[in-house]
Amino acid sequence: MRVGRAGASLLKQILGARRELSPPFSSATLEQDDIAIVRQLLDGESSWFDRALLEEFEARFASVVGAAGAFAFGAGRFALSAILEVLGIGDGDEVVVPGYTCVVVPNAVRFAGAQPVYADIELDTYGLSVESVAQAMSEKTKAIVIHHLYGLVCRDYEELLELGRIRNVHIVEDAAQALGARYKGVHVGLRGVAGFFSTERSKIITTGQGGIAVTQTPWVADGLAAVADRARAPSREWVHMQLEDFLIEYLRKRHSKRWITREWAKIRFGRGPLISTTEMEMEGERPRYYGARMAGAIAAVGSNQLGKLDEMNSRRRRTAEYWEKLCRAEGHGIPEVIRESDPVFLRFPVLVEPDQKRDTRWAWSRYGIHVGQWYETPIHPTNQPVCGCPNATIAADGCVNFPTLGVHEGVIRLGGSN
Ligand SMILES: *Cc1c(COP(=O)(O)O)cnc(C)c1O
Repeated sequence: MRVGRAGASLLKQILGARRELSPPFSSATLEQDDIAIVRQLLDGESSWFDRALLEEFEARFASVVGAAGAFAFGAGRFALSAILEVLGIGDGDEVVVPGYTCVVVPNAVRFAGAQPVYADIELDTYGLSVESVAQAMSEKTKAIVIHHLYGLVCRDYEELLELGRIRNVHIVEDAAQALGARYKGVHVGLRGVAGFFSTERSKIITTGQGGIAVTQTPWVADGLAAVADRARAPSREWVHMQLEDFLIEYLRKRHSKRWITREWAKIRFGRGPLISTTEMEMEGERPRYYGARMAGAIAAVGSNQLGKLDEMNSRRRRTAEYWEKLCRAEGHGIPEVIRESDPVFLRFPVLVEPDQKRDTRWAWSRYGIHVGQWYETPIHPTNQPVCGCPNATIAADGCVNFPTLGVHEGVIRLGGSN
């Protein structure tokens, strides 16, 4: 059959849309009650920049994780930048970051005027390897950004904190994926000098985009309060788009099996969902709106989302238990839950053969799920090379992650888990 150019283009569009059939389980915690709040907010602009809404969210967040202070920004990356600013990190300084992370982490270091230095991860929890960090350090090292990926508490947590103490270097905790995870009963993010969480749509709870810096250290709390006070509010247009985004995301979540939903959302709103990491950021450039505060309207949704945290995380833990049994039986490389830790399993990470990561249809045919592939490159989502981080490359080539919310079909197909 011969198809004209227009026909070929349409065909391509349809095939492209089909690949989007099931979005990568973003906004998994978005429900009808959140949407009701969003609709109310869209009806009246007067509360969009309400400080009381922002402060209420920050107070609730601090109380949930047990932090002395919590400061909400427009993104987790802005919260990290605020922390680096308070720590006085700048020209000539080095900050050790994981060689398996999102590009916005090294970018925050660069935007501060400092140099990111990559250290390798271990493959038990995908956290920083303490040996690799020790090797990456120099006299210029001022801070180490450690992370708790996929909601797991990192394997070398104690050792990394100890290394920071001995070498007199700040430990900053990237808890972007780990809201609710605890170690010895204490929430992750609190043991370092400061920590940050993300409420971007693919994280534990969602405000579309958003991030929160936390600390237990009084001088850091004072510094963060000052940076937060100075931070610009986002524009009205931006808040409007963010609120609309909740509607788009909810639609896509409810009808994830229908590719037409995505096209319909485009027609209805004239655009697809907002992109969290722009081309510009992938090139290492600092966007204009960088560093903004969280708007009151977005914080209102965040407060509602916080109310679901425990229930959502219990569900995630139950699903993860199920995946663990299954993956053990199937011989996939399962993650380690370190002693005295209580992870949240944003996703259940599994090490498979590289060709099983390149083509994940096996997961759909065997388990009825779409597996996530993050990260596909060590410095997600760019192709930036990392030197001296062989495990980061192994993870990028072989780590897939099973969804832990919204996976009833897979579980039912296999005969139920609980
Ligand atoms: C999402 C994420 C970030 C950045 O958070 P944003 O809210 O998207 O800026 C940083 N580190 C890790 C590990 C993340 O998953």
